[in-house]
Amino acid sequence: GDSLLRQVAERLTREVGERGRVGRLGGDEFNVVLPGLVDRRELGALADRIIHSVSQPYVIEGSTISIGVSIGIAIAPEHGDCADSLVRNADLALYAAKAAGKGVFRFFENAMHADAKDRRLLETDLRHVLRDKGLAIVYQPVVSARTEQIVGFEALLRWNHPTRGPVSPAMFIPLAEEIGLIGPIGEWVLRTACLEAANWPENIRVAVNISPIQFANPALPTIVLGALAASGLHPGRLELEITESVFLNETHATDEMFARLSGIGVRLALDDFGTGYSSLGYLKKAPFTKIKIDQSFVRGASIPGNRNAAIIKAIVALAETLEMETTAEGAETQDEVALIRSLGCSHIQGYIFGKPMPGEDACHLVQRGQPIAPQGFTASRDPRTAILRSAVLHVGDRKLNVRVRNISAGGLMAESKMVPGETDKVEVEFGEGQTLVGEVRWTTGGRFGIKFDQPFRVDQLAPAPRKTAGTDRRTGSRAH
Ligand code: C2E
Ligand code: MG
Ligand code: MG
Repeated sequence: GDSLLRQVAERLTREVGERGRVGRLGGDEFNVVLPGLVDRRELGALADRIIHSVSQPYVIEGSTISIGVSIGIAIAPEHGDCADSLVRNADLALYAAKAAGKGVFRFFENAMHADAKDRRLLETDLRHVLRDKGLAIVYQPVVSARTEQIVGFEALLRWNHPTRGPVSPAMFIPLAEEIGLIGPIGEWVLRTACLEAANWPENIRVAVNISPIQFANPALPTIVLGALAASGLHPGRLELEITESVFLNETHATDEMFARLSGIGVRLALDDFGTGYSSLGYLKKAPFTKIKIDQSFVRGASIPGNRNAAIIKAIVALAETLEMETTAEGAETQDEVALIRSLGCSHIQGYIFGKPMPGEDACHLVQRGQPIAPQGFTASRDPRTAILRSAVLHVGDRKLNVRVRNISAGGLMAESKMVPGETDKVEVEFGEGQTLVGEVRWTTGGRFGIKFDQPFRVDQLAPAPRKTAGTDRRTGSRAH
């Protein structure tokens, strides 16, 4: 560590040269003071050079090490007229730079004070959230790709803030990690989810997300054992979801943690696969039972020309060789389900099979024991079919004769002499008793668009009525 700090200091002094001074504030933070340099372009260019230089690999005692750097910049007197306020504002800018993704610089802006204040407020509330019982867990079904039977649920944390409303876990979990609260919060999730799962049939598992900070805590196996013991849940029914970032600081302790968790008998899943640094080496030795393919590969994979299918296929092949299961995350359309299945994924999780739901609802769902039919649109792009059909539009008591020009799973476009009003609730009658219910979303000239209340299968559109009455005895259907 000392050797690295010395080398970083050398590179900083080299880049800054005669223009200013470099000092270390403590830890891994350095300050650079540049008297008289106020030109933003010049400052930005220098910051870029520093980022480039500091990010080059270091050789320390024969090992190569890489680090990143973020920079915050405050200019006097615009951003402060004393050392204290300048350093504080540069610090806020540094914070914004880190939030923007590592390896960038940011100039201070006044709005950063408001952001920081807001964050502090949120932080204070988060510190009390366990005491105030402000957290809840929802459960999202994971189904077998082959049978569409539920095999388990993923426990997902929710924070319903008393004044802000729901705060996304993508926002408050990093905050909890930063202020050292993820330990107690994660333990609460583990205990609560195990208790809930103990109510489900024996063959249904529960998956719990584990932050890298929890993973680095040597007490994790004890915490897991505690949650299992308190709930009476069999270890094989608990799956811990870990992201690739646990391998970033891979040490002896990482291997040992894997061994201890495996020893307990819980299952280990690799979450969000493909979005991290995806070095494949660790897959060889880490005892994962499952790889979760990130939603970014699943979504849109069925759109022609999209390359995600090739990536999913490769991940499935890799997982099969290593005897691991695969869950495709974030499947939203029927086409995606069909594709995922054809690519050989063993499990599917996504809105199409169910959104995250309260524990009670999850319990009802599994007690039914039925496969869940996928619910949703057919295709990601919701393709429109051009048709030319007359239909009767019911708007309140009024009836309009309209010509439908195109139709998709989500809505239709039609034209007529008299158009309905925007936001009108309407029913479109196609004959044969088939009526679609929806709302007018736009009107222009003699044309208007309707969004259906419920997705509609275009292939189930009744055939156009024949000119001569009567031989067709199909029963009418009413689709919403
Ligand atoms: P994750 O573990 O990858 O969880 C899946 C996320 O995808 C969930 O978001 C889920 O609601 C969402 N999702 C599932 N199917 C679909 C779909 O078909 N379409 C779309 N658009 N989204 C879908 P959520 O609940 O907002 O959670 C976000 C992330 O927050 C999670 O990603 C996980 O990394 C983290 N998280 C949630 N709960 C916990 C927790 O208890 N502990 C820790 N450490 N992290 C958690
Ligand atoms: Mg997860
Ligand atoms: Mg995920």
